[in-house]
Amino acid sequence: MNQLQKIDELNDGAEAQRIAAKQKPTCRSCDAALDHTFVDLGMSPLVQSFVPPDKLDEAEPFLPLRVLLCPECKLVQLRSYVSPDNIFTEYAYFSSYSTSWVAHAKAFCEMAAERFSLGPNSFVVEIASNDGYLLQHFLPMGVPVLGVEPAANVAEAAKAKSIPVLVDFFGEATAGKVAKDRGTADLIVGNNVFAHVPDINDFCAGLKLLLAEDGVISLEFPHLEKLMDELQYDTIYHEHFSYYSLMTAERVLARHGLRVFDVEELSTHGGSLRLFACHVDSKKHSRLAKVDEVLNRELAAGYDDFDVYVEFQNSVQASKRKLLQLLSRLKDDGKSIVGYGAPGKGNTLLNYCGIGTDFLEFCVDRNPYKQGLYTPGTHIPIRPVDDIRARKPDYVFILPWNLKDEIIAQMSDVFDWGGKFIVPVPEPKIIGPEDLG
Ligand SMILES: [Zn+2]
Repeated sequence: MNQLQKIDELNDGAEAQRIAAKQKPTCRSCDAALDHTFVDLGMSPLVQSFVPPDKLDEAEPFLPLRVLLCPECKLVQLRSYVSPDNIFTEYAYFSSYSTSWVAHAKAFCEMAAERFSLGPNSFVVEIASNDGYLLQHFLPMGVPVLGVEPAANVAEAAKAKSIPVLVDFFGEATAGKVAKDRGTADLIVGNNVFAHVPDINDFCAGLKLLLAEDGVISLEFPHLEKLMDELQYDTIYHEHFSYYSLMTAERVLARHGLRVFDVEELSTHGGSLRLFACHVDSKKHSRLAKVDEVLNRELAAGYDDFDVYVEFQNSVQASKRKLLQLLSRLKDDGKSIVGYGAPGKGNTLLNYCGIGTDFLEFCVDRNPYKQGLYTPGTHIPIRPVDDIRARKPDYVFILPWNLKDEIIAQMSDVFDWGGKFIVPVPEPKIIGPEDLG
């Protein structure tokens, strides 16, 4: 899709938004009226819409980034203003670029094959299979697989690894088609897709339809508890529609006859849950104690009430003020600051806080697709990583804070010229060599 078509589409989105604004928003899971704001991050561009140099003088679409809370099921959610076709059909993110993510996927496949006795007679489906970073690990085990992936360009990369891929969005219709052609699935994997689906009822109906009698669903998604405890407000962006606690995820699945029987807490993406679910009447999978342990912790924290949610907006605003105070002080002292990384979350933070080239001279990113482009809304140039070494700035501002340990280790020569790092959330913090153990 070229830029003009994209803007036309977004104008359609703006039209949809005007219509939506007149209608009262309702919960995407239980349909209750949504009249509580969880956090309002103002107007923001689509975080993956990096701007090429020849488009810098053109208008960019900005959409509301106001997150709502369902008073009934307590699902924290963003309204969808842009059609998913616009976001996911050509995707610049290839999962295999991240070696730690591929290793995470490999460990999962080995665990799942053993725990659920997967073999040549099993069938594994991954939803949002990207470039085959996960399913590739089942091939040497002889386990038949299928990826479902809407972005044709990343799906091609998976096919090149001999992984069959259905290029489509996942929902009830797609699930019915796969079940008819290939049979039901013993394992359905969805990593970082559950939170990115606008129509979660259609998605869950698809899971229910495709799952074998005693099959298992494994879903990974960022945990709302981490977002709230660690003020990870920058993980909020337009493509990320639902923000789950285990409590709300369980309610969403239960509505479709699916039952959570186990959960793991992971450190990925700033803190994620991996839940395992089965048909509500499956005798094979008994509920493990860990499920109630996490649920009870959420209940004790007040996730089924309102007060804890109301506090969040105040904490986010205070965090923004502290960050701007720190950056302003450093600039007043004549210091130079460069950004490291241009992840989606970085763009939410930069736009919400109003941080442009007035604070960050440029950003660097390892992904060659982003180099030469500009950050959406704030128009900070993105350059190769070695440009930091050429510039030798006083401070390196780490945008993908979830990878801060890895980045500081890779960039430890910053300390050699007296440079330090800044991490923006939950509290803006300066990290010098003396802070490392
Ligand atoms: Zn609801």
